Amino acid sequence: MGDCIFCKIAGKEIPASLVYEDDQLVAFGDANPQAPTHMLIIPREHIPSLGHLDSGHDQLVGRALRLAAELAKGKGLGERGYRVVVNCGPDAGQSVGHLHFHVLGGRVMGWPPG
Ligand code: AMP
Repeated sequence: MGDCIFCKIAGKEIPASLVYEDDQLVAFGDANPQAPTHMLIIPREHIPSLGHLDSGHDQLVGRALRLAAELAKGKGLGERGYRVVVNCGPDAGQSVGHLHFHVLGGRVMGWPPG
């Protein structure tokens, strides 16, 4: 937790292109965007992955998903659509050990994901 890069972004110890913040959630642009719009939504609480959620996080996760929809709509993606992704663990390619929701849009997405 002490050297978690996303905790440091949430705490403004390192810069990021913030697009939203409140007492529970922070959203910012991904440093290595994989689509014309690529934002990350993180909880301020250090939760290592989706697999570390418990029932006490249900409201937080609901808010994060609703924020994803609101931010995507704000980027003009409401009609064409967008994708919300959570990578959990090494097989999924999770590279930062702090729960985050990718919000990707602005291009056609392939399926299945690689
Ligand atoms: P994941 O591979 O699902 O764990 O996603 C981690 C994401 O964090 C990647 O898309 C990275 O490009 C992004 N990322 C890593 N460091 C930063 C940073 N300092 N600012 C913004 N995005 C970052």
